[in-house]
Amino acid sequence: MSTHQWRGVIEEYRDLLDIPAGTPAITLGEGGTPLVHSGWLSDLTGGEVWLKVEGQNPTGSFKDRGMTAAVSVAVHEGAMACVCASTGNTSAAMAAYAAKAGITPIVLVPDGKISASKMAQALVHGAQVIRVRGNFDDCLKLSRGLAEAYPVALVNSVNPVRLEGQKTAAFEVVDRLGDAPDFHLMPIGNAGNMSAYWLGYKQYAAAGNATKRPVMRAFQAEGAAPLVLGHPVEEPETRATAIRIGNPASWALAEAARDESGGRFKALSDQKILEAQAALARNEGVFVEPASAIGVAGLFDDLASGDSYSGATVVITVTGHGLKDPATALEFFGEVREIVVDADIDAAAAAAGLV
Ligand SMILES: *Cc1c(COP(=O)(O)O)cnc(C)c1O
Repeated sequence: MSTHQWRGVIEEYRDLLDIPAGTPAITLGEGGTPLVHSGWLSDLTGGEVWLKVEGQNPTGSFKDRGMTAAVSVAVHEGAMACVCASTGNTSAAMAAYAAKAGITPIVLVPDGKISASKMAQALVHGAQVIRVRGNFDDCLKLSRGLAEAYPVALVNSVNPVRLEGQKTAAFEVVDRLGDAPDFHLMPIGNAGNMSAYWLGYKQYAAAGNATKRPVMRAFQAEGAAPLVLGHPVEEPETRATAIRIGNPASWALAEAARDESGGRFKALSDQKILEAQAALARNEGVFVEPASAIGVAGLFDDLASGDSYSGATVVITVTGHGLKDPATALEFFGEVREIVVDADIDAAAAAAGLV
């Protein structure tokens, strides 16, 4: 294994993916992300807690797993262009894989609600970025409409091929741990990722690669919690923009994953999400964007409300890199006083609190 070069999720797991035979692999080397053991969270819970750090993917989020699959199949089927609605990370991933494939990326984003980093990714990769007066759910409707009326491939997670790519994260967890964990905690927005993990865990257990399947616990922001409320949210609002979604496309699949696994959905405040983001960065050295911290916030909240993870193996997916949204990070954590000093050792030592 020491000399093994990771080939991207299609070539690593091709036999396990439901994609047409002969699909070329349009890859940027996605997947194979670190499963980082958290001594801090293990001590807190009395269990073994692992972080699946998806910000290490080529464009900085787990969306690359689904996009290598969706763009590869689109190319196999002769597509010259692809379209998606996005809160940011899907468009960043799609633009990169479309560029790699040499097809035209068309992106629909809610006007004014995309982080500058994600917008820069889409633009630099050459996407046609169309800003829509509306929210993500409006963009998804438009994107579906365009794909029906014009010869462009729809690569949102309503395209089942996306889930085929994304389920590889569950395979990697089991391959690394030797079995499925007892619990899997993660954010949920449009609900494709939780559905994909559950697909992967079920498939691996059925194939005899795992002896069990985890309990799936997924978390939404309070202002965008349709799955918790049981009805769509007209005007979703949260600083965790990657999960600012009011009417998840994979609603039914996510409910099935919850019910079949004995899991649940829970809503958390933005304050708790941002506190978890800071705690994770300071205690574990892992910097994630706000939405990505909600699984850790959820673990804290569960412990506070009396749930036990003692003796359990827990995997928390942290979905995207902290550099995806520096503006929110600076707004909430930039309060640390900035002291400007002369180029002088004594002054620097005093400013650093060393004397
Ligand atoms: C897309 C995304 C999510 C939500 O995933 P869904 O599949 O839409 O539920 C969470 N975090 C980040 C960083 C994302 O990009």
